[in-house]
Amino acid sequence: MSEKKKQANQDLDLDWLEEDPLGLNEEMPVVAFECLDCGKEDEVPDFVVEEFGYDLKKGEEVEIECPFCGGTMKQARKNSR
Ligand SMILES: [Zn+2]
Repeated sequence: MSEKKKQANQDLDLDWLEEDPLGLNEEMPVVAFECLDCGKEDEVPDFVVEEFGYDLKKGEEVEIECPFCGGTMKQARKNSR
């Protein structure tokens, strides 16, 4: 008896994830970030912000690197109250 497991499947498992990493993005909530240096805005998926937030202490803000100028982006404040 020769048991041949389908080893190919192990490779496929991840492939479909990589295929379309942004496929769900349209449904995903995004957070607006504003660059402190160049003033441009960028939208970051909510889950990314949360991941960055894990390292922060309470009260600290998530900072990301500006894709335009390499500066610091912080969450844009919208005066919504
Ligand atoms: Zn910038």
